[in-house]
Amino acid sequence: MNIIFIAPPAAGKGTVSSLLATNYGYEHISTGELLRKEINSGSELGQEVKEIIDKGELVGDELITKMLTKELTRVANAKFILDGYPRNVAQAETLNQIFNNLGITDYLAIYLAIDEDLATKRALGRIICSKCGSTYNKYFTELSPKKEGICDKCGEKLVTRSEDNESTFKVRYQTYLQQTAPVLDYYQKINKLVTIDSSRESDEVFNSIKEIIGVSKWLQSKILKKSN
Ligand code: AMP
Repeated sequence: MNIIFIAPPAAGKGTVSSLLATNYGYEHISTGELLRKEINSGSELGQEVKEIIDKGELVGDELITKMLTKELTRVANAKFILDGYPRNVAQAETLNQIFNNLGITDYLAIYLAIDEDLATKRALGRIICSKCGSTYNKYFTELSPKKEGICDKCGEKLVTRSEDNESTFKVRYQTYLQQTAPVLDYYQKINKLVTIDSSRESDEVFNSIKEIIGVSKWLQSKILKKSN
């Protein structure tokens, strides 16, 4: 089963995606991460992208969809997680078309629900690895790195994302409400939406996701037995 995460900024979609990738072999496709790689490459395009991200706005659909299509083709038949796409209804419609073209029907959209205050606290405490992209949080003991300022996984320096400041976060949250929240209705209408309370600790959120994946496998085996 493939997974699409839909969530306000800093709801923890990056963290649970990494857990799923590490423990269950999912291909983790993060559009935010793809854009950050472009920025770090020092290209002209990366500079343009950085300005948009730093304002708290969304990057243009055309560029992001091109990046996504390339990644989906790369992972071919593997199971995957989409972290950060779709972020508006037009992208959801495009994704639907891509899935139709590739014959992908086995997927669920998981909404990681969290209120604005907690999302703000998570964003302002977030620190990420400058090399491997692992995420930590200085305001939550269970999410802090073992050694201050150093990545547990690769030993590189941890940095703050330039968009994780209070004023940009407010704009990002408004962008989410206006453009991304309607995507929830889109998946609700086609019976593909599941909601999870993401205000809990990441291992609890992860357990809920495992249940969803497990239940789906159980249901699938029942359906298969019936049709045999
Ligand atoms: P994220 O790491 O998912 O929080 O993404 C960081 C930033 O990258 C977002 O605030 C957007 O500016 C941009 N971004 C990521 N994914 C998309 C997308 N699907 N469409 C447009 N912009 C995106």
